[in-house]
Amino acid sequence: MLKKIILQKGKEKSLQRFHPWVFSGAVLKKEAGIADGDMVEVVDYNHHYLATGHYFNSSICVRVFSFEQVLPDADFWKQKILKAIAYRRDISLLHNEKTTMFRLINGEGDELPGLIADWFDGNVVLQFHSYGMYLLKETVVSLLLELFPGEIKSIYNKSEATLPELKSFSPKDELLFGTFDEVLVKENGILFYIDIIKGQKTGFFIDQRENRDLVRQFAKGKRVLNLFCYTGGFSSYAVEGGASLVHSVDISKKAIEFTDQNIAMCAPKPDVHQSFADNVFDLMEEMKPDFYDVIILDPPAFAKHHKVKEQGIKGYRTINRRALEKIKSGGFLFTFSCSQAISQEEFQTIIFSAAAIEHKKVKIVKHLQHAMDHPISVFHPEGSYLKGLLLYVE
Ligand code: SAH
Repeated sequence: MLKKIILQKGKEKSLQRFHPWVFSGAVLKKEAGIADGDMVEVVDYNHHYLATGHYFNSSICVRVFSFEQVLPDADFWKQKILKAIAYRRDISLLHNEKTTMFRLINGEGDELPGLIADWFDGNVVLQFHSYGMYLLKETVVSLLLELFPGEIKSIYNKSEATLPELKSFSPKDELLFGTFDEVLVKENGILFYIDIIKGQKTGFFIDQRENRDLVRQFAKGKRVLNLFCYTGGFSSYAVEGGASLVHSVDISKKAIEFTDQNIAMCAPKPDVHQSFADNVFDLMEEMKPDFYDVIILDPPAFAKHHKVKEQGIKGYRTINRRALEKIKSGGFLFTFSCSQAISQEEFQTIIFSAAAIEHKKVKIVKHLQHAMDHPISVFHPEGSYLKGLLLYVE
């Protein structure tokens, strides 16, 4: 029997609508002895069962993994991982020769809150976002090995930066299975080196795959500027798409080194490319106008929390104003925000005000989001963090 968390009267509604988070403010009582990471049952004021999840003493105090009463065993987790695998098979990412990296498990979107698993050609990077899920890491590893017999080269746990703080334990990134050296993967036929250990997030921003492909379609004969390029994902696609010139900018020297390495593997002519280790904010002030036909703006999350939202909005407005001011007329701007605290509507409002201030006529060509291997539960819109717009600037 799992211990119970009892909700205040009337606080059961969001769970009845399958939202997978319980906020601490909704809790009336918790049974004695519940510890961080424990599996618990959530019940309403009248003790009727609502959901089962992992407990952690924080503002989101339960992350729900089942709305049916269960005692989760290895088979329970196996069925969930099998579902996630089947979905990637359905969208043609499993055993796809042209794309050997994809997100295998996307937290709440795969009904596995707190667990991310990215696949880099048989090297799996696990990122735990909840302590409860972290306690299941051995189970997750053995299930992955069972479900991908002979296919897994390594499993790496990269959760130091994503797990909540606990006095009793400090997580360390660690190799859980196999070995890896240099990881070389393909995305839509384009080669990339992945630095699993030192790279950002799990090593690559897999979520932009479909948007990068769109850049490839727009690149022919164009001058392309990729700002906040990281390891040059968008730049490689622009080069492959036949751009006449591609400039990549990132503040991190290491990222620029990787960009150069990745571009060197591009098929047609990598010599159209140049990279710059620079601060985008400074560079955009000095940038010459009417030069670039395509600009990509994919900055880090400027507003990670609601507390810094105003500051984040200012940051987005500044870079988008500069881009709209300086892009050639008839140019295309790919602009993104990955800030959880800023909604798609708010992001569009920022672009609206940037365009109004700069007196630019701007058309929305397409709404952009993360790729299909990052499914979002309809009951958990918070999972939809990446929003973008493809703009045509007259
Ligand atoms: N577009 C990339 C992902 C960008 S992640 C891709 O497709 O893979 C955000 C990047 O912005 C990081 O690489 C970080 O080093 C860089 N960055 C953060 N602040 C910056 C700044 N002020 N100027 C330039 N780059 C910056």
